[in-house]
Amino acid sequence: MQLNTNATGLRQLPDGVEVTTEENGQPRTYRADAVVVALPPRLAAHSLRFEPALPAAVQAAQQQMPTWMSHSMKSLVTYETPFWRGQGWSGFAVSQQGPLTEMHDASPPEGGPGVLFGFFAGPHPLRSASLAVREAAVVAQLVRVFGPAAAHPLAYQELDWTREPYTSTPADEAPPLSVPLQGPPELRAPLWQARLIWAGAETASSEWGRLDGAVEAGERAATQVLAGAGSKA
Ligand SMILES: Cc1cc2nc3c(=O)[nH]c(=O)nc-3n(C[C@H](O)[C@H](O)[C@H](O)COP(=O)(O)OP(=O)(O)OC[C@H]3O[C@@H](n4cnc5c(N)ncnc54)[C@H](O)[C@@H]3O)c2cc1C
Repeated sequence: MQLNTNATGLRQLPDGVEVTTEENGQPRTYRADAVVVALPPRLAAHSLRFEPALPAAVQAAQQQMPTWMSHSMKSLVTYETPFWRGQGWSGFAVSQQGPLTEMHDASPPEGGPGVLFGFFAGPHPLRSASLAVREAAVVAQLVRVFGPAAAHPLAYQELDWTREPYTSTPADEAPPLSVPLQGPPELRAPLWQARLIWAGAETASSEWGRLDGAVEAGERAATQVLAGAGSKA
């Protein structure tokens, strides 16, 4: 197993696939009988060089396929206790004023700490503000929603998925206008004589984009690898 390794390219060979990687700034190549690409399709198109180039319909399918939630940003605010539970509240809220559009209780089932998380669901001016300004706006919103006990968190943490280069591409900064129910058939069909196989949640035929979809796609990809190996034996 090769961890912390950035795959940069795939090249079709007469009897396999050459994988190019970058590890600590050093390029390396590996040879495989078959390769499963389990990156979000748009990210695969953005960060992997394919030789020969993929068919135009496959490239288009990759680029048009959004990555589930990759435009989103999440804030987590930690308190000593889930104080809202004592008031009989679930910790769930939705807001059209923001900055968080939905909030959830992410605390352990019993005891502390108390954790509320929420999403900046789409583009919001605060996403490019300083951390301190954003934190103050989030805490002020939680005070409006959950009362004065929300004013003094122990910690504030956040992650903007549009800045995660192993999840998002520049095309993912804006939320998609709609999300598909399933991945495109082009991204479920093996290429390169069944040596280049697609997986990943965004290729699934059910539960598109979600964990269940990733598992389904992985099982389908494994079947395709075994079928390809069997046909070449
Ligand atoms: C903010 C957010 C909230 C979500 N909430 C939910 C939820 O509530 N329920 C749910 O079911 N799903 C949720 N999802 C979706 C869920 O995370 C995905 O369905 C799941 O992670 C997809 O798994 P995957 O294996 O297809 O891809 P990923 O988990 O994206 O795995 C791809 C892997 O490839 C690696 N990688 C990327 N580029 C390279 C490269 N060039 N070289 C080597 N490695 C690379 C990445 O580091 C990553 O480890 C959420 C996603 C996000 C972003």
